[in-house]
This record gives sequence, structure tokens and C-alpha cells, in this order.
Amino acid sequence: MDLLRQRYDVIIVGTGVAGLNCALNLPRDKRVLVICKSKITDCDSYLAQGGICRLRDDGDYDSYYEDTMRAGHYENNPAAVESMIKGSQEVIGDLVNLGVEFAREEDGSFAYTKEGGHSVPRICYHEDSTGKEITTTLLAAVKRLENVVFAEKVTMLDIIEDDNCCYGIVALDNASGEVYDVLADYTVLATGGLGGAFGNTTNFGILKGDALAICINRGVAVDRINYIQVHPTSLYCKKRGRRFLISESVRGEGAYLLDKNFNRFTDELKPRDVVKDAVFAQMKKDGTKFVWLDMRHIPAEEIVAHFPAIVQRCREEGYDVFTECIPVVPAIHYFMGGIRSDLKGRTTMTRLYAVGETCCNGVHGKNRLASNSLLESLLFAKRAAEDIACGYSRADAEGEARAVGKLDAAKYSQPKKLLAKYKNQVRKAVRAAAEGKDINVNYKEN
Ligand SMILES: Cc1cc2nc3c(=O)[nH]c(=O)nc-3n(C[C@H](O)[C@H](O)[C@H](O)COP(=O)(O)OP(=O)(O)OC[C@H]3O[C@@H](n4cnc5c(N)ncnc54)[C@H](O)[C@@H]3O)c2cc1C
Repeated sequence: MDLLRQRYDVIIVGTGVAGLNCALNLPRDKRVLVICKSKITDCDSYLAQGGICRLRDDGDYDSYYEDTMRAGHYENNPAAVESMIKGSQEVIGDLVNLGVEFAREEDGSFAYTKEGGHSVPRICYHEDSTGKEITTTLLAAVKRLENVVFAEKVTMLDIIEDDNCCYGIVALDNASGEVYDVLADYTVLATGGLGGAFGNTTNFGILKGDALAICINRGVAVDRINYIQVHPTSLYCKKRGRRFLISESVRGEGAYLLDKNFNRFTDELKPRDVVKDAVFAQMKKDGTKFVWLDMRHIPAEEIVAHFPAIVQRCREEGYDVFTECIPVVPAIHYFMGGIRSDLKGRTTMTRLYAVGETCCNGVHGKNRLASNSLLESLLFAKRAAEDIACGYSRADAEGEARAVGKLDAAKYSQPKKLLAKYKNQVRKAVRAAAEGKDINVNYKEN
């Protein structure tokens, strides 16, 4: 693939909202390569349903801050939370300027919806396909840029580094099987979550935490990697494959969770981890594989207008949400931990950035507040782009040559095996972190 034979100023790994917003905010005189493992649209950003948080006005600040901290069990990084909340109007403003259409009230102001853990409605949305609306618009904007090129179906197998400085990536062209050393002054990891490493997940199966394994192996610090959010309500299905999410905003708009006797058993609008525990406890008590979600009392026109994709998918699975309850079950959903980054996306390795779900700047603490993820991904990806622009320098040619010289081609000769190894490493490392081990110190490659 010719695109992989060239040198770039910046390589971005990932085409979700984080990767795209980073590309969009880099200077136009920088040559940028954006790669993704599968199709451009195969990323969780397209799946986001519920919406994206926005600080409603100055009076909402304390409440939004407290909701985020309470959901995160006060393990959040306060500076990151402050930065995210204060940057939320900027992010939504950027999106609106690009053409993203959010639901509006009759007077033209934003219509806000609510999800678990929020004291007030402060979530902007586009039906139940907010992620698709945002990501499609961002992608169109980035595709218009002459300085950015995309390479689909290209998998990062490793980073190229020497002396704790990153000089690019080792990339596999999935189609031809050829492996390339692609050099760049800066590398940005925007590789999303890791649900695919575990199964029973709402995530795309390709998202297995490759970058996390690579970073651990290369001595880049990672944090809180056992903090994985399980969403309380995915549509119960006997088939294998990705779990279809039933957005929390359905409960935000009034849906009930019911036990096997069709009685309510919990407060549906508590933070996700609390509701998830209640669902599991009820399933155990009832001896069932799911609980029921009841939308029947919500006005039909409201359901049709706000949740068309959910209605459609349930219909495909044989459920009519207007007349019957639907079976729901918890599923692995979101990665709060990740590659350690600061508020500008900088990792512990020089010239290596991490943004979006793959990074951990502590903003979510132990449990993410609903609809803070798209916001966080967009904001800190923009900050990373600004930081790269601000301190831009050419990578040292000698270091680059040393880093390339260190690469062992044999390591990449069986890419499938290598990726399977990464997946196992991720699973092991998550277990080890849950046991309290410091992954940055104790982790051994094998
Ligand atoms: C069903 C669902 C609903 C959600 N709803 C909401 C919501 O309503 N609000 C909200 O705020 N958040 C929501 N989230 C979470 C949110 O969508 C994600 O956290 C966010 O989109 C992550 O964006 P990202 O850019 O970091 O990663 P993604 O959008 O997941 O993109 C990851 C990219 O990395 C690439 N990649 C990964 N590994 C490699 C590799 N080795 N080589 C090359 N490329 C690689 C992939 O190909 C992909 O392009 C939802 C998530 C899911 C799954």
C-alpha cells in the first residue's frame, strides 16, 4: 500500500470521534495519516445512542461536577473533570458549526435529555443515533482536508520507539499481509475500548485493546485498567455477536426495569454500576437470564421521535416496544482505565499521545457518568492536536534510525498470532490489576 511507504508528520491510529477531532484540529501544513483496523465506520463512536453532555449554563456547573464525581466514586481527577465540563460548550459549539444537528426546543434552544446519575437533563442528542450524526459530520469535514489521508483495514502491530521516544508505528496492510514501518514526528493513539477482548459486549469485536498491550510491552504507563463499565441494559439475545445497547436515555425518559413478575425492583436512574448490580442481583434472585424493560407507558409519539433505531432493532428481534416489555441484560460497555495521559493527551513516552476511550486521564474515576464519553474524547483530542501544533518539532533522525534498527521483523511475521497474544495479555493484565498489581511495574510480556 503506497500510503504506508511514506513518512508523515502525524500518524493517528483510529477513526472514531477522538481520532477525527484530532485530525481536524491539527495545522493544515502537517501531513497526517489516519488508519483504522477495519472499515472507517467500524468504531464505537458510530454506535453512541444517548447523547453528549453540555454544561447548560454557569448555574449548572456545581451540579454537573458533583454528578460526575459521585458516579466516579470520587476517584476522578478533579482537574480533568473541571476541564471537561468547562470545555463542553466549546465542543458542542464546534460540532454545531460543522453542521451536527441536535434536537431543539420550539424556541431553537437545545432540547436536553436525561440519563442515570444526572440531577438534571443536560444531554444533547440526535434521536438515538447521536454518535452516527457526530461521527459522520466529523468524517466529512476531515475528508475535505488536503493534508489528511486515510488508510482503512490497516492494523497497528507495534509502535516504533527508542529511548522512550516514539517514531511511528509498525502497520499491517490487512489485505496484502505486508508489514510496513511508518515513521512520523508524532503518533496519536485513538484506538477506543477493549470490550472485544472479553465478549458479551456492546463494543465492536475488533476493539480488543491492542494499543494497551503494545504500550504495556513498550513501558508506557497505563492506569486503572481493571475499571471496565458494564452497562445495565443491552437487548437480551441468544445469538453470538455484539450486544445491542438499549440506551440509558430510555430510562431517562421514564422506562421501568421489571422483575419476572413485572414489578419494579430498583431506581432506574442511579449511576450505571448501581443499576447493573441491582439487575444482576434480581436475575440471581429470579433465576432468570434477563430482566424486563418497560416502555409501554411512555407516549408512543415520544418513543418514535426519540428512539427510532431502538424501536426498529427491537422489531427485528421480534419485540414491539409499544405493547410489550423487552428483555435486557448487562454487557461490557466502556473502559474507564487506559494509557496514562495528561490533559493534553501526552503519554509517558515522548512524541506519543493517547486520546479518547483508550486513554486514562482520570476524568471518569471508577465509573463513567452517562454521555461524558463523546465529550471527553472530542475535547481532549482537540487539546492533543493543539499541543502537538504548539510544540511541534521534527523527530531526531539518529533516534529514528536507531528505533528502526531495533525492530525485529520476525516479531511481525505472524500478525494474527501477535494480535491474539495481545488480546490474552490484555485479559491477563486486567485480571492482575484487579488483584491490585501495579501493571507498570509487575507486568511481564509473557
Ligand atoms: C453502543 C454504545 C453506545 C454508546 N453511547 C454513548 C453515548 O450515548 N454517549 C457517550 O458519550 N458515549 C457513548 N458510548 C461511548 C462512546 O461511543 C465511546 O467511548 C467513544 O465513541 C470512543 O471514541 P474513540 O474515538 O476513542 O474510539 P472508537 O470510536 O471506538 O474508535 C476506535 C478506532 O480505533 C481503531 N483501532 C483500534 N485498534 C487498532 C489497531 N490495532 N490498528 C488500527 N486501528 C485500530 C478502530 O479501527 C477504530 O477506528 C457508547 C458506546 C457504545 C459501544
